[in-house]
Amino acid sequence: MTAPRIEVDLAAIEHNARTLVARLAPTGITVTGVTKATLGSPQIARAVLRGGVTRLADSRIENLERLRRGGITAPLTLLRSPAPAQAARAILAADVSLVSDIDVVRSLAEASKAAGLSHGVVLMVELGDLREGLMPGELLTTARQVAALAGVELVGLGANLACLSGVIPGTEQMRDLSALASLVATRLGLPALRVSGGNSANLPWALGRGSVGAVNDLRLGEALLLGLDPLTAQPIDGLRTDAFTVVGAVIESREKPTEPWGQVAPVAARAAHARHSAPSARAGRARRIQTIVALGRQDSDPDGLTPPAGASILGASSDHLVLETSAVVAAGAEMRFGVDYGALLRAMASPFVAVLATEPADVSLAASPSPSAL
Ligand SMILES: *Cc1c(COP(=O)(O)O)cnc(C)c1O
Repeated sequence: MTAPRIEVDLAAIEHNARTLVARLAPTGITVTGVTKATLGSPQIARAVLRGGVTRLADSRIENLERLRRGGITAPLTLLRSPAPAQAARAILAADVSLVSDIDVVRSLAEASKAAGLSHGVVLMVELGDLREGLMPGELLTTARQVAALAGVELVGLGANLACLSGVIPGTEQMRDLSALASLVATRLGLPALRVSGGNSANLPWALGRGSVGAVNDLRLGEALLLGLDPLTAQPIDGLRTDAFTVVGAVIESREKPTEPWGQVAPVAARAAHARHSAPSARAGRARRIQTIVALGRQDSDPDGLTPPAGASILGASSDHLVLETSAVVAAGAEMRFGVDYGALLRAMASPFVAVLATEPADVSLAASPSPSAL
């Protein structure tokens, strides 16, 4: 098997999907599964759908197109507003787009009218994280303009927090979003709006004690794929955090001095920090076993990799991950790493990293033996 590769345990993803859908069900919130970290892998999307998720979303038109080409028929939402020039492609790839600019909505309306379609619009509202969204005071006016356009349908309101400024989505923000939703629903006579409260960072709020108000949708990526709460980087109770594993091959392993020699440039400060916090440095040793894995910044994000027990990361360059290991490792041996969201994104997007997904036994029996399923 080639390395580097990223192994995907589809049963773990299905488990996470099923668990999140079931936990949110009593609140009336449904899950939109976000596939962007997987580049819209149809195979991973199918695992999410088997877990009971009924709607998928991605920030990239290319990924939505890949889902459709891969035979995914679930409704698809485009998470990042298209630019006007992309409208014609967006309306073919997605059923619904999250948008915060009336000119973008007009472009979508034109494109969708021309294609004889109707495109759903979720208007995004700014609730303080200062990424996308109309200011709350402009919402009703813009909602009226959208509702008046042929070719688009106002299907919902949405908000996104915890992405740019780290504002925690909580009772106050969700109460504001609910109030705006009832305003738009009453004034425009749209009782069945999708009210999309946010991303994985909304889970502590959604699963807390309070009422969720009018919020009836969350767009979940990180929690679904990695089982992590993005606000704390901690595992979410009952979810699997081992769905993805990055695997690399050892290309050198030998005892070396712990300290470099020669004059050291100031930009090397970060590497020096890792070297000084490594176990050998703490023990004050002069030599240690240094093991190189052929896995660099062009393959994944070394800062987001968790090495196996007994190994610690000393540093990384474009192509090399340097670890301290407790014993010499044979060249060609493989080392396995856990990933955070950044490391997952980078590994999935790297042309050098193969993706190897394992179906649960019952699904692989039913599936065709063709390896082109991915
Ligand atoms: C990526 C994204 C999400 C999913 O975020 P997670 O933290 O991975 O759950 C939700 N909404 C929007 C608009 C996004 O871009």
